[in-house]
Amino acid sequence: MTVALNFPRQHLKRMKIIQNRKGYDLKLQGAPSDDLVSLSAPATVAVLPERIPYIKPRLRVKVGDPVQVGSVLYEDKTDPRVGFVSPGGGKVVDIVFGPRRVIREIVIQLDSEETYAIFPILTADELEGISREDLVNRLLAGGVWPYLRELPYRKIADPDVEPPAIMVGLDGREPFQPNPESYLNDETRPLIQYGLNALKRLSDKVLVYTDPRFSNLCRTFKAELTHTIAGHYPADDPGVLLYHIRRRPDENRTWFIHGQDLLVLARFLSEGRYPTERLYVVAGSAAAERQHVRSRLGAPLQHLVLSAPTCPEPRYVVGGVLRGYTGEPNGHIGLYETSVVVLPEATEREFVTLFRPGFNKPTRSRTFASSIKGAPMIMDTNINGGRRACIACGYCSDVCPVDILPQMTLKSILAEEVEEYLAHGLLDCVECGLCSYVCPSKIELVETFCQTKFDYHKEQVS
Ligand code: SF4
Ligand code: SF4
Repeated sequence: MTVALNFPRQHLKRMKIIQNRKGYDLKLQGAPSDDLVSLSAPATVAVLPERIPYIKPRLRVKVGDPVQVGSVLYEDKTDPRVGFVSPGGGKVVDIVFGPRRVIREIVIQLDSEETYAIFPILTADELEGISREDLVNRLLAGGVWPYLRELPYRKIADPDVEPPAIMVGLDGREPFQPNPESYLNDETRPLIQYGLNALKRLSDKVLVYTDPRFSNLCRTFKAELTHTIAGHYPADDPGVLLYHIRRRPDENRTWFIHGQDLLVLARFLSEGRYPTERLYVVAGSAAAERQHVRSRLGAPLQHLVLSAPTCPEPRYVVGGVLRGYTGEPNGHIGLYETSVVVLPEATEREFVTLFRPGFNKPTRSRTFASSIKGAPMIMDTNINGGRRACIACGYCSDVCPVDILPQMTLKSILAEEVEEYLAHGLLDCVECGLCSYVCPSKIELVETFCQTKFDYHKEQVS
């Protein structure tokens, strides 16, 4: 990738420029336009405890309870200071449970006049003098603490620990995520600066990075940026940046927060109430309207996808095509997700697939003739084949941005060789999903790695 940078020489000296050489950019049809539509308030919003990893949710409300924007709906049993608040004011109308009483959704029906839980406002001057403890308590009380997350497990940051650094990603390289230049600009720069000052009360080292491809953003935030990182997806991931810059083992527990979430945190502190606005992207080859939409945190998927999909059986992938999950059509969007991708459900097996050249199928391994065209392809939910044994093709290690050898790591996991899979770098895995995507044997590598990380963490904690 050729990168054109137009910064003053003095600034270039301070800012570090990193090139990530691995990864892969999917060429998919259905990208969103930069058009932005502001939606009216939906009838309901929800929180999705099931989608917050590494917590044990305990309900603080029941069906029928009135709630304000910012009222606590549930808390983490393992640390009750970490609460999750309502993104809407109204009444709890449903609590949806899954198997084994997993709490899937807490649904709030919005009042026409919503009321807010009010918190003390923190001026920029007061922020300069606030103690770390006071700031942590405010962030916990306001329900914005969960936006701060901790590597390598990507769980909510531990309020009792001072992290070696906090990384702020002003970026979005995953296919079909909001363009950061649509919410990070001259208008929001003071809020970002305020938010960065708040983070500096939590850690001595705050790193701000983006992809140099976002030239307007680089110009606007040139004084704040400490790193640019160029390259294919997932170059924007905090774990990839950490992989390139870490010097000491304790830095593996660096915290991170995304640009849009830093705005939430800054608005909460400076305005004294929980912000409810969120920018999303609706995209995918089966989405009739592909664009940016401004709506509410926890909005219903049907509210975000304005028009009926273009295929009879659509699948709603929430959170991105490589890292996301299948959302229920009548469900809501989670705290961390910023995209809904609508894909055609592949319900039928193709007849004599083996003898079809596959001009229309996305491929990295040149399995299909589409690799000759190089044009964006339609992605559907077909995995184009069945699972088989590893054929040692090495595609997974070719794309892995943090140089794990996924096929070797998988073998040590299956053999329960803990020391070995740790030595292969399992904990560095940024859960980007590329290894599973490119694997011609359809081995669920990333799913296995995420589960193993989870199990290892559980064992360490216990
Ligand atoms: S091993 Fe992890 S980081 Fe590497 S490609 Fe797979 S999911 Fe991505
Ligand atoms: S891509 Fe799949 S088949 Fe190829 S080496 Fe990796 S795990 Fe094995």
